[in-house]
Amino acid sequence: MAPAIGPAHMVYIDYNATTPCSESVWEAMVPYFFQKFGNAASRSHAYGWVADEAVKRARAQVAACIGASDQEIVFTSGATESCNLAIKGVFERYRDKGRHIVTCGTEHLAVLDVCRSLERHGAEITLLSVDETGMIDLDELAGALRDDTILIALMYANNETGTIHPVSLIGQMAKERNVLFFCDATQAVGKISVDVQRDHIDLMAMSAHKIYGPKGVGALYVRRKGPRVSLVPQIEGGGHERGMRSGTLNVPGIVGLGMACEESMGIMEEESLRLSTLRDRLEKYFLDKGGRANGATTQRLPHVANISVPGIKSEKWLATLNGQVAFSTGSACSSASPLPSHVLTCMGLEEQRVLQAMRFSLGRYTGGEEVDKAIAYFDAAHAAIKGRP
Ligand SMILES: *Cc1c(COP(=O)(O)O)cnc(C)c1O
Repeated sequence: MAPAIGPAHMVYIDYNATTPCSESVWEAMVPYFFQKFGNAASRSHAYGWVADEAVKRARAQVAACIGASDQEIVFTSGATESCNLAIKGVFERYRDKGRHIVTCGTEHLAVLDVCRSLERHGAEITLLSVDETGMIDLDELAGALRDDTILIALMYANNETGTIHPVSLIGQMAKERNVLFFCDATQAVGKISVDVQRDHIDLMAMSAHKIYGPKGVGALYVRRKGPRVSLVPQIEGGGHERGMRSGTLNVPGIVGLGMACEESMGIMEEESLRLSTLRDRLEKYFLDKGGRANGATTQRLPHVANISVPGIKSEKWLATLNGQVAFSTGSACSSASPLPSHVLTCMGLEEQRVLQAMRFSLGRYTGGEEVDKAIAYFDAAHAAIKGRP
């Protein structure tokens, strides 16, 4: 049985927001806080060598997980920084070629906010539309590419709906049209097969804390050949990470990221099957109650469901459940006043359906008991909501 995470009466099904560190990740990290605390950039003594060896090992683990070579991995503080480095770094480096970037309205804010900020520095941004399942149209993408297009920025899988883009086809088109392809694969790495060669990806963001690693560490894949991608660094000061990202390396975090990659890869297939079965069980409960699934049904991450139950706002569910089930809603609560999800709005869903949306993401410590418990809580909440005038 999976170990319970958090208070025993609560069910956590918000793994796309963050995950706990797995036990082996945590154990791998511990020595690097005290016994092996050296600076990986110290070349003159064994403290540094030991740390550097650990970073090398982690670099190989991360690279193996995505079909890259070790030298193509740049460690960062997480996917947000990786997105910033990729998009700003390309924009500043490839100015002679152009200032046009193609992205999509359903991207994570780590991509959209960066593009918006570059617009103030002369970038031209084309936002692709999506259909009601969150899928882009490859013909629209082809039509959007211009001679001065320097970058396509499209995510692998959406964090709110789980919808998976046709990444390999996007990458092929980017290659044919000689445009760089940046992919935010934060929700795909370790969950579904990701391969930068097969998928023709030039730059790719990932994060440790979405795959049972620690918070505050991630990586950017930067292609070295066919083509060799160059970036203007966004953090300078010492030339670490081949000049692309300076700063003393977060050795424990990097060790954790490496272990998280290796571990996720090892159990990916069985987890995918196990979680999709549980996800379907949870989803069926809501569909039987008249709920509507938001997002793609086939091209979808195995552990994700996004559901709106007509007549019940997600805030109402939250208030009635009183903390028994941890999930996200169809509104972005990162700001003081909650705004309806830009992802679901971009998909053309009506406002009520967006405000009713509940985002569920299951994970490694979600067992059948957790799902049954969540369903029982939801059922009691549903009766309470319907019972009141
Ligand atoms: C979580 C997430 C991010 C941000 O990652 P951090 O490591 O928390 O900065 C970016 N993109 C997607 C798709 C995400 O799910």
